[in-house]
Amino acid sequence: MQNQLNTIANEIARCTKCPLHKSRKNAVPGEGSPNAKIMLIGEAPGYWEDVKGKPFVGAAGKFLDTLLAEAGVSRAQVFIGNILKCRPPNNREPTPSEIQKCTPFLDRQITTIKPQIIITLGTHSTAYMLAKAGIPFRGITETRGKLYKTNVLGLEVHVFPTFHPAAALYNAKYKQTLIEDFKLLKTKILQLKIN
Ligand code: URA
Repeated sequence: MQNQLNTIANEIARCTKCPLHKSRKNAVPGEGSPNAKIMLIGEAPGYWEDVKGKPFVGAAGKFLDTLLAEAGVSRAQVFIGNILKCRPPNNREPTPSEIQKCTPFLDRQITTIKPQIIITLGTHSTAYMLAKAGIPFRGITETRGKLYKTNVLGLEVHVFPTFHPAAALYNAKYKQTLIEDFKLLKTKILQLKIN
């Protein structure tokens, strides 16, 4: 499984399917346990992720570590990936064309790891996963904080949408909601006997 993830990561590092490869310092394939039962999906690398080639290593990543601790899980147990593997200039939003070109990598990561819970962080990853599950997306505020038992890419999986951790850095009201969502996640993980 680690071999398959390495193969995907090598393809990502060489990928030139969209213009983002021209401005990247490093691609960010994602990282974590190949046996992870929990996968987190963010939006796209930011400044520090691009510099280091690793997901969620900047300010949003520090807050994500706090959130994972609320849920009683460590980074080593999970796999953290993104919708886009290369940084959009000035952290602008991913375009539909970039999402379309990049997400086959994410799909392959998901079918390799076969997680039981996928936590989607923010609008883009939530919209993407719910579309895969055939569930209408009515906005992140409406959708977040619930566990959707569904089938994605031929896998039985629970999708748990929440806000993007970076939202908490701009607006304190999102911080508390994120903490509540990860506390709820802890009870769901225990109920489902995941971990
Ligand atoms: N924000 C994301 O969505 N992903 C990262 O890897 C870092 C910040």
